[in-house]
Amino acid sequence: MQKKKLSLPVQIVIALFAGIVVGLICYFADIADFTTNYLKPFGTIFVNLLKFIVVPVVLLSMIEGIISMGDMKKVGSVGWKTVAYFLCTTAIACIIGLVIANVFNSAGLFPTAMQLAEGQTWDKATSANFMDTLVGIFPSNMWEAFRTANMLQVIVIALFLGGAIIAAGEKGKLTKDIVSSFYAVIEKLMTFIISLSPIGVFTMMSWVVATQGAEILGSLALVLLCAYIGYLIHALLTYSTAAKVFGGVSPLKFFKGASAAMIFAFTSTSSAATLPVSKECADELGADSDVASFVLPLGATINMDGTAIYQCVATVFLATLCGMNLTLSQMVTVVVTATLASIGTAGVSGAGMIMLAMVLEAMNIPVDMIMIIYGIDRLFDMGRTCLNVTGDISCSLCVSRWESKKLAKK
Ligand code: ASP
Repeated sequence: MQKKKLSLPVQIVIALFAGIVVGLICYFADIADFTTNYLKPFGTIFVNLLKFIVVPVVLLSMIEGIISMGDMKKVGSVGWKTVAYFLCTTAIACIIGLVIANVFNSAGLFPTAMQLAEGQTWDKATSANFMDTLVGIFPSNMWEAFRTANMLQVIVIALFLGGAIIAAGEKGKLTKDIVSSFYAVIEKLMTFIISLSPIGVFTMMSWVVATQGAEILGSLALVLLCAYIGYLIHALLTYSTAAKVFGGVSPLKFFKGASAAMIFAFTSTSSAATLPVSKECADELGADSDVASFVLPLGATINMDGTAIYQCVATVFLATLCGMNLTLSQMVTVVVTATLASIGTAGVSGAGMIMLAMVLEAMNIPVDMIMIIYGIDRLFDMGRTCLNVTGDISCSLCVSRWESKKLAKK
């Protein structure tokens, strides 16, 4: 008989509950130090691996994205309309995420300044003003940007290199192929690191619960609720309006037509895997087949509104937890980085969480704090993937209608 291997999500859920149980035992037995000294170091190894992969993932996936935009020029008007739609809806998603998170925060629902065991510190988050941030994103040394994992600088480097590869044309082909090949390798490595996550989840969860007590579990439920309220508002407000006003489809018909893809995305947590179902839904809703064939794969790669909301909510939650109150200019930075991070997120399970590291790095929030919400990432991921896919379908409807109107005018 062949032994059945537990799937990763199941392993993560088991690790999560095991971590909570061990954490509670250590908390009540007053031996939290055990988790700090002997379990947390394994979690730290896992976080280090995440940190180590984030720079190449961001750099290469952004360059790949830009190169594919270069091809989009050929597709002309469909291309720019699609990208404009993606950028606008993602920016709206970020704003909704930030507003909801701030409402939760000012209502005192997010815990402030996590108590730390003696001798531990979070590196204090430093606040910077907008002009300093602007000057700071242009690197004077490429390797220094990689070495210090300065994510805004890494994005600028990716934008420049991607643009230059397109501009170089035929002569840039070798670099283009190297980027694609290197990205394929890094993606494999990312999958491997993600497969280690049950270890990270178990060790970090037990440490967090043992040192913080049971109250932290309530906070996690609240941050999850906050993200889902954001997802719901964005779907009901942005997509209903877009479907009705630009796509010419009533919201009810839209959600009914998209429901198969939404359910598939919710359970699979991968926009890429949901693509065939999304295409069928878009066709049935009346989208132009050519437009949908272009918009949906691109959307599954760069349009991630659910991921953007999650990243904003998680950033505010973790910032509050490490005793930092985001200023308005820092929120603008969150909107910009979360929009870029969601563009750079691959349409696969858990990718949005890796890109959250980028937003945290940009805000000077210790990346280790990701582990506090890592254990329940799957629950965030189900909702955010569902929203990501819905956004792609609504875009295919709107762009189809814009294109058909243009043709009719001609
Ligand atoms: N799982 C998401 C998707 O495939 C990406 C993410 O993790 O945010 O759309």
